[in-house]
Amino acid sequence: MQHFGEPLIYETGKGRVCVFPGLCKGCGLCIEKCPKKALRWSKYLGVYGTPTVEATEDCIACGMCQNVCPDCAILVIRDEGKKAAASGGS
Ligand code: SF4
Ligand code: SF4
Repeated sequence: MQHFGEPLIYETGKGRVCVFPGLCKGCGLCIEKCPKKALRWSKYLGVYGTPTVEATEDCIACGMCQNVCPDCAILVIRDEGKKAAASGGS
C-alpha cells in the first residue's frame, strides 16, 4: 500500500493515528463510524481542499476508522504493536 505525502500524527492514549491529507477526501465516514467519537474535523485540508480529521485522547486504537476509510487515508498503530516491533528489531 502506498500513501502520498507526510502524515499528520495524533498521539492518543492507546497508540497513534496517522492521517494522510493527500489521500483524505473529507467524506466523514471515519467520524461517523468511530465507536468512541474520538475523531473530529481538523484545520488541515485534504486532497480536495476539504478538512481532514484528527484523533483525540478518547481513541482506543480499535482500527475501525482505518478499516472503513475508502481511500486508505488513516493508519492506526497500537501501543502494543510499537513494543513488539521494537523488541523484534535487529
Ligand atoms: S480519513 Fe478517510 S473516511 Fe475519514 S474523512 Fe478522510 S477519506 Fe473519509
Ligand atoms: S482507532 Fe477506533 S477509536 Fe481510534 S479514532 Fe479510529 S475508530 Fe475511533
